[in-house]
Amino acid sequence: MKLSDKTIIIQKYFDEILPNPGCELTYNSDYGFLISVMLSAQTTDKKVNKVTDILFKKYPTLLALENANISDIEEIIRPLGLSKNKSKNLKAIVHELLVNYEGKVPKDKNKLMKLPGVGNKTSNVVLIELFKIPAFPVDTHVFRVSKRLGLANEEDDVLEVEKKLMKIFPKENWIKLHHQFIHFGRYYCKAISPSCTNCKLKCLCKNYGN
Ligand code: SF4
Repeated sequence: MKLSDKTIIIQKYFDEILPNPGCELTYNSDYGFLISVMLSAQTTDKKVNKVTDILFKKYPTLLALENANISDIEEIIRPLGLSKNKSKNLKAIVHELLVNYEGKVPKDKNKLMKLPGVGNKTSNVVLIELFKIPAFPVDTHVFRVSKRLGLANEEDDVLEVEKKLMKIFPKENWIKLHHQFIHFGRYYCKAISPSCTNCKLKCLCKNYGN
């Protein structure tokens, strides 16, 4: 099947089953979102939402977080794993935002990527969610689904998958498709026991039947 035919089938199916996908992290401020995305490394959005609810109630402003004791933050975010590193990054991000960006999250990928604990994926997620700047962040779900659907090769790394997806799909659809890939991977095309029976993408799936 031609790649262009595949992309049409995928977009049509995603629009049918996931017409209005969105980010599942809850947040009340731009810095709160940035911190949530940083905290979401190697854990689930559900767990992050529970923890940030407690964290931002106790420390409701950047200044409150700046003055917070790091060991208390580490304790609050412990359920997310990697709490030592994440609490250090959180404190450093808060400090950077206050000192260099007047308390605002910068609308610039290079500046975002200089923040502690903020890499390519996190900065892309922030750009699309807070500023609606097109990007195609590749998380574990996007990575797996892209390979199963033959949009990327088995040996491709995250950056290669991101490049391929941006080349294959129209830029105006990147943000919506990013969310659709995540939701499809999270609720349908799961890592273990995907729901293949009713999936209309069987015809182009490399994983079907394995
Ligand atoms: S057939 Fe199964 S593995 Fe393939 S895309 Fe559909 S849900 Fe995923």
